[in-house]
Amino acid sequence: MQYPLARDILRSFSGRGIPAIPIQRYMDVFGRSHQRFSFQKNSPSVILAVKHGNFVYPGAPVCQDFGNAHFYYTSFALNCPFDCEYCYLQGMYSCAHIVLFVNLEDYFAEIRRLLSEHPVYLCISYDTDLLALEKMTGFLSGYTKFAAKQPQLTTELRTKSASYLSADSAQTANLLSPEVRSRIIHAYTLSPDLVIAKFEHHTPALSARLKAIRSAALEGYPVRLCFDPLIYIPDFEQVYSDFLDTVRTGLDGVPIKDASVGVFRIADSYLKQMRKSRPDSALLQFPFENTAHVCHYGPRSHEMIQFVLRKLDGWLSPNQIFTMNLQEVSP
Ligand code: SF4
Repeated sequence: MQYPLARDILRSFSGRGIPAIPIQRYMDVFGRSHQRFSFQKNSPSVILAVKHGNFVYPGAPVCQDFGNAHFYYTSFALNCPFDCEYCYLQGMYSCAHIVLFVNLEDYFAEIRRLLSEHPVYLCISYDTDLLALEKMTGFLSGYTKFAAKQPQLTTELRTKSASYLSADSAQTANLLSPEVRSRIIHAYTLSPDLVIAKFEHHTPALSARLKAIRSAALEGYPVRLCFDPLIYIPDFEQVYSDFLDTVRTGLDGVPIKDASVGVFRIADSYLKQMRKSRPDSALLQFPFENTAHVCHYGPRSHEMIQFVLRKLDGWLSPNQIFTMNLQEVSP
């Protein structure tokens, strides 16, 4: 088979008795209209596909660049094994099946081309959760091998999993040299357990994520804490105060590279689709304000962010904390 990654994934599936169905084009399945995203989420299929066209995109202005001049993102996969009620993917796609692009070499060629021009800061886990998928896909093992040979490449690996790029997934010791690890930022999105239980379905508990953070830091990976999205819930201040105390205590002595803080906000076109898909979601049915087609909590957004910043004060220094662009939520 032309693509070793596809061969390995198919072999692992067939070993577990999971049948493969050949299709012509992934969009014949993924792009069909009138699909039921929330229904498919209960038991998503996996679609192996070859990507064409663009492989790497400039970072969107709404995404935090963390001070990096050459900020890009890429999508090796579409959709995620988790099921967060606020996830924008359910507004973006009509299909919840997970697409895995297997032509990694084409991605690598494009990243190499960019690296020939300047250093690259690349976010690779935006439209999915690659760490959560790693046992099934082995993507990160392949990507790390490539990244290890690109000293000008810094990677952000965002996750809600209780995992990290462990020594187990590396092929050679060199892959996990301190220099390579220092260029693979593990960015953990953290929420209070109450928010996890209500809205971040199938994701690990806070304690498990904190444990993974400790391990990742111990292994020499830079760790980023993402307090984004903050969700407005009854007793917001009490719940988030307890949560931030737990995080701080749980990560006592752990070196933290930086943190991001932002509230839930979403394009109005996505929200419309998400509300249709989850008519009973209190989170999505909130009477949001709409500014330039972005739905948000209005002035409350600023208060929520300020509250979290006050809680982080004395633990993380101001130059370690990146807040979302508040103009997005200024009516
Ligand atoms: S972990 Fe991220 S990508 Fe996955 S469902 Fe939740 S919000 Fe979406």
